Amino acid sequence: MNIILFGPPAAGKGTQAKILTSERGFLQLSTGDMLRAARTSGSDLGNKVAGIMDRGDLVSDEIVIALIEEQLDNNTDAAGFIFDGFPRTVAQAEALDASLEKRGMSVNSVVRLCVDDNVLLGRVEKRFTQEGRKDDNPESFKIRLANYNEQTAPLLPYYAKQGKLTEIDGLAEIDTVSASVAQVLDMHNTGRTNKTVPFWKRLLGLK
Ligand code: ADP
Repeated sequence: MNIILFGPPAAGKGTQAKILTSERGFLQLSTGDMLRAARTSGSDLGNKVAGIMDRGDLVSDEIVIALIEEQLDNNTDAAGFIFDGFPRTVAQAEALDASLEKRGMSVNSVVRLCVDDNVLLGRVEKRFTQEGRKDDNPESFKIRLANYNEQTAPLLPYYAKQGKLTEIDGLAEIDTVSASVAQVLDMHNTGRTNKTVPFWKRLLGLK
C-alpha cells in the first residue's frame, strides 16, 4: 500500500510519516530529508540545491523524481511507501503515477492534513528558534506557503477525481491525527502489501 501525506509546509507530515513507519513498517520517502542529506554530505547535488531550498523555492522536478525512483528501486521489498513532501507539482504527480505503474504499483491513498496558515506560521517560528532550519525564517516560509498554494494545492483535484483523497483535521493533538490517519488507511487497505502482488499478475495488470 502506498500513501501520500499531503499538506502545506509544517502541517505535520513528517511526524505522521514517522508514526506510520514504526506502526506499520512502511518506508518514509521524504524528498526534503533526502535533499537535506545531500547537503550534509556536501555532494554536487547538495550544493546545487542549497540556495534554492534556503530561499523556500522548489528544486526541479527532474531532481526529486530521480531521488524517488532511486528509492523505489532500492527498496523493492518494502511493505508500502509513505510519500512525504512529494509530489509537489502536477508534473511530479504524473511522474509518480508512471513510476509506480512501471513497477506494478499505484498510489492507494492521499491523506490531506488540513491546518490554518496562522497555525503553520506559529509552528515554523517555534521550529526556527528550536532547530534553526534556514528555510523556516519568515521570508522563506512565506515563499514556501505561496509555492504550496500555487503549485501543490492544484494536486488536490487531481487525486480527488481519482477518489483517493481524504481530508483530516491536522490541528488536533498528534495522537488524534495519527488515529484519523490510521482509520483512513484501514478503510483503503485491501490487505495486500506491495511485495505480495505476484509477477505474472503485475504483467497482466491484475493488481
Ligand atoms: P516542508 O514540508 O517543511 O516544507 P520539506 O522538508 O518537505 O519541508 O522540504 C524542504 C525543501 O526541500 C522545500 O522547500 C524545497 O526547496 C525542497 N523540496 C522538498 N521536496 C520537494 C519536491 N517534491 N519538489 C521540489 N522541491 C522539494
